Amino acid sequence: MTAVKSICCIGAGYVGGPTCAVIAYKCHDIKVTIVDVNPARIAAWNSDKLPIYEPGLEDVVLARRGKNLFFSTNVDGAIQEADLIFVSVNTPTKKSGMGAGRAADLAYVESATRRIAQVATSSKIVVEKSTVPCRTAQSMRTILEANSTDKIHFDILSNPEFLAEGTAIDDLLKPDRVLIGALQTPEGIRAQQALADVYGHWVAKESILTTNLWSSELSKLAANAMLAQRISSVNALSAICEATGADVDEVAYACGRDSRLGSKFLKASVGFGGSCFQKDILNLVYLSEQLNLPEVAAYWHQVVIMNEYQKKRFVRNIIKTLFNTITNKKIAVLGFAFKKDTGDTRESAAITLIKDFIQESARVAIYDPKVDRQQIVMDLSEPGVVDTQQQVEKHVQICSSAYEAAKDADAVVLVTEWDEFRDDQLDYAKIYDGMHKPAFLFDGRLLVNAPKLRKMGFKVNVIGKTELA
Ligand code: NAD
Repeated sequence: MTAVKSICCIGAGYVGGPTCAVIAYKCHDIKVTIVDVNPARIAAWNSDKLPIYEPGLEDVVLARRGKNLFFSTNVDGAIQEADLIFVSVNTPTKKSGMGAGRAADLAYVESATRRIAQVATSSKIVVEKSTVPCRTAQSMRTILEANSTDKIHFDILSNPEFLAEGTAIDDLLKPDRVLIGALQTPEGIRAQQALADVYGHWVAKESILTTNLWSSELSKLAANAMLAQRISSVNALSAICEATGADVDEVAYACGRDSRLGSKFLKASVGFGGSCFQKDILNLVYLSEQLNLPEVAAYWHQVVIMNEYQKKRFVRNIIKTLFNTITNKKIAVLGFAFKKDTGDTRESAAITLIKDFIQESARVAIYDPKVDRQQIVMDLSEPGVVDTQQQVEKHVQICSSAYEAAKDADAVVLVTEWDEFRDDQLDYAKIYDGMHKPAFLFDGRLLVNAPKLRKMGFKVNVIGKTELA
């Protein structure tokens, strides 16, 4: 295998866009073309306003766009030109299933694979970048092999992406590890080396892990399941803290000082969101069910159950504290993205919370620094709850600052941990002055110094903390 000279990435989303932009940034000798069937998304990648917000992304894209980095809707042309193709399309959760698990819908992966098989005019390394159930590469291989000839050979690799939204560029530039799985055949190992050489432009050799295909596929689901499991574990402890006077920050710190546990990912919150954790765990649950391993399925399913419980518990606590009714009360929700430093709202806890507030007849005011009105309205429209855009607009007020949202509010609810909501950045005295009294503040992100805000007059309620002490 000669060195990779041309890369195509199918799927210009949160993963394909940043990942392949960084490859272009680090490998000037490789032409990188990122393609998508969504022309609006490609137009945005080619414009001044990129379709996704990530710190540092704009610099990377602007440095290489038009040089060795291209965004295009010409999927077939890019496939034909490339010697290595990333499949980085969406793998959403199916809406229904037999058990508790939910299979990933692999329709987009299959359609991209079929496209490669149909239009390729030379040999390709096809790389599974999307998160997929273990042994998906086998299906892709079957489709590709059915179309291979004496002249056209397809190698298949698994190279799951471990970036986290909000820190994607940093994660890509300095990855903890890059994982490349291959069939343990001479051709498979050669293809694995070719992709390792691409990453080798900037990633240290010892950080590039090579495994068999199936270990690589399963490692991605396993890593996300274990990360989410830590959050659900600390959230489960937060409920005990609130009832006993233990402080979840102190408990997490004490646990995290054990080097076997480590301190990362032990922050209690209103619950995890994002497009991946829930989807990947439900996928793992589905896989376990398919493999007739019900106890294993139940074990992982509990992580999702705990996450749902945490969101509902938070809402219940808010209603109870507001004298058991929020009818006609104004609730200011600060933050709508599923975490800070991203505009992504997929599976954001804010969506569940706000729908519950609307069901309870509250008036909701929302402010998020990176999520626009159109996205919020789309996320909150739901048949049977608020069917239409007009209905959403009737129930919610979308604001351009935290102060506007909190004006005349009965309660402020911190949902996303944006730095600008910290008590050393936001003028909480001003927020307090503008609110109805008593002024309640519910911190779902361990963001504020509660004693300081209590001195201002706020009635503060922080997840995993209580005044019992
Ligand atoms: P996304 O929805 O943002 O992007 C996927 C893109 O693929 C879309 O723009 C869609 O139009 C395009 N697409 C679908 N089918 C296509 C086809 N046949 N041809 C061309 N384009 C096509 O999704 P994402 O967040 O980038 O996730 C992609 C994959 O990466 C998923 O499997 C996800 O689980 C995984 N992943 C996501 C993250 C994350 O933080 N978002 C992290 C790691 C892994």
